[in-house]
Amino acid sequence: MTGYAPSTNITELRESATIAASARAKALRAAGRPVIDLGAGEPDFPTPAFVTAEAHRALDGGATRYTQVEGILPLREIIAERASALHAGERVTSDQIIVTAGTKQALFNACFSLFGSGDEVMVPTPGWTSYYEMLALSRATPIAVRGAPECQLKLTPSDLARASTSRTRGLILNSPCNPTGAVYSRDELRDIVAFAAERDWWILSDEIYRAISYDGEAPSLLSIASSTDRLVVVDGVAKSFAMTGWRIGWSIAPRTLTRSMAALQSHTTSNAATLSQHAALAALSNPTAAAEATASMVGEFKRRRDSALELLRAASIEVIEPQGAFYLYIRVGDATHDDAEPGTTFARRLLEQHDVAVVPGVAFRSPEWIRVSYAAPTEHVMEGVRRIIQARISWGP
Ligand code: GLU
Repeated sequence: MTGYAPSTNITELRESATIAASARAKALRAAGRPVIDLGAGEPDFPTPAFVTAEAHRALDGGATRYTQVEGILPLREIIAERASALHAGERVTSDQIIVTAGTKQALFNACFSLFGSGDEVMVPTPGWTSYYEMLALSRATPIAVRGAPECQLKLTPSDLARASTSRTRGLILNSPCNPTGAVYSRDELRDIVAFAAERDWWILSDEIYRAISYDGEAPSLLSIASSTDRLVVVDGVAKSFAMTGWRIGWSIAPRTLTRSMAALQSHTTSNAATLSQHAALAALSNPTAAAEATASMVGEFKRRRDSALELLRAASIEVIEPQGAFYLYIRVGDATHDDAEPGTTFARRLLEQHDVAVVPGVAFRSPEWIRVSYAAPTEHVMEGVRRIIQARISWGP
């Protein structure tokens, strides 16, 4: 009898720590533990009724069959229209769009189609856990580039210059950032775009949190780059419309790359779920209802952010002030010889002793931190933050 041994494709692969943290919290709750789940990066609101009503109609109308791999034309057209309205350069057209099973698939399609063995790709660090793994699955090398604390851990061209080599092929940007909530200003993005353009690097811009921004609009790279020649923008409906389970994302990319990514997707998942595509179309086709739904969620996130920050600041806890997304990134210790991952130790003890689930910073390649999601009911967020403060103070530096 032969046992299973992982193939060389996945020997280094680690499961998603963000998904794992929330799965663990859910399992503990199901087993009766009163766990407060601040791990999941998932809006705690229902999908707006104007979207679900349209999905019911689409289902009754027979939206149950395959679509084109790239997605239904009206959805691609509306995505292209919105991208064109943002874009400083030429019009974006529907043949530059692929609708995917969640934004993750758009990112994976892009990483896999753009980068390969021997290529280095810079990842602003702390950065979302799956960027590193998707690049490694593509046999490229993710290079974790750290920003300075006084810059909210955001990157500047000098950070990129220090980390670049002759093998650098591109970088990932994510503003608002998961896990820090930092938002890059127009000027900051402009500097990075110019720096990358001089070196012919690709930029993969993950804009999934762009609608969740507290101090004015988070700029899209589409509104900054003069051309989409070496730019891939990915976005989706999960966070802005509370549609995580519908699994609809998309990529906006040059046509040649779009054709390659569609070929790749034709062998993996084919089209994203047909019904979900119709739901996403409904979300994007009704700007007034959409703006209302998003504004009410963002207002609630902002109130939670403000109250949580007030508590953390009063207790002198080191935290990045999030200007977008729905995470608090909190520093919980210094790495030492005895404990290289204080964030992991803290998260474990917090769950064991205080029934609060968070994601250890090691998932984002910064082991001295934890990520606390405030996409959870307000009373859970506030109680969870109180327990974090209590633990931080009683466990010491
Ligand atoms: N992106 C969310 C998070 O960071 C959802 C889980 C995942 O896909 O990583 O928590």
